[in-house]
Amino acid sequence: MRVLMVAPPGAGKGTQGALIAAHFGIPHIATGELLRDHVARQTAVGQAVQTYLDRGELVPDRIVLDMVREEMIAAKAAGGGYVLDGIPRNMEQARAAYQIGRELGMTADVALHLQADDAELTRRLLARAALEHRSDDTAQVIAQRLALYREVTSPIIAWYRDRGILVSVDAMRSAQEVGREILVALEAMRPFLEHAPADERVPLDLTGLGEAFGATGSAAGISE
Ligand code: AMP
Repeated sequence: MRVLMVAPPGAGKGTQGALIAAHFGIPHIATGELLRDHVARQTAVGQAVQTYLDRGELVPDRIVLDMVREEMIAAKAAGGGYVLDGIPRNMEQARAAYQIGRELGMTADVALHLQADDAELTRRLLARAALEHRSDDTAQVIAQRLALYREVTSPIIAWYRDRGILVSVDAMRSAQEVGREILVALEAMRPFLEHAPADERVPLDLTGLGEAFGATGSAAGISE
């Protein structure tokens, strides 16, 4: 199973990425976590990226892509599956991640898109700020990160839809409900992924599934 996630901050990428990784026994490659770890250890990379993280800005593509290439090579040695969390964040990274995947013979099977609206995301991130004290979970930086997602990251969703690998999920519900829906969808797709040629895939929109998975309301109005 090779999954990449496209989701705004606060949508639950980290939680769902860890769940998918544990369920399928594959590495969880979370760029934000890797970068925060560099900052904590005060490595050369950590010193170079700290200001970007504190301000909620994107770290230069080259730094993140080098890191991800290394992790993907390790993922290949570990069996070839992965969950990418936090990358791609812009169109250049989407193309570069695809290129790395092509080179290693492990392009993504699924682009998992978690949808939630800005009011809910802001509420969650402010709640997390009280618990985790992340330098970028302040009201001002949260607004900056959400704006960046809407402007720069969300346009790549159409690219995955066109490639037929997009799976969209309504993330306005509890982590358990969202996680259950994701695992059911990925399990259902698994036999198909193993046999279908990449050019015969079709995107899957689960955001209207509603009550079957415990939706709290209509997914209509949730923007990408
Ligand atoms: P996250 O944990 O995914 O919310 O990422 C936290 C921060 O790490 C972001 O606000 C960026 O500063 C940086 N970051 C994480 N992933 C990337 C990426 N793919 N490209 C650029 N910056 C990133």
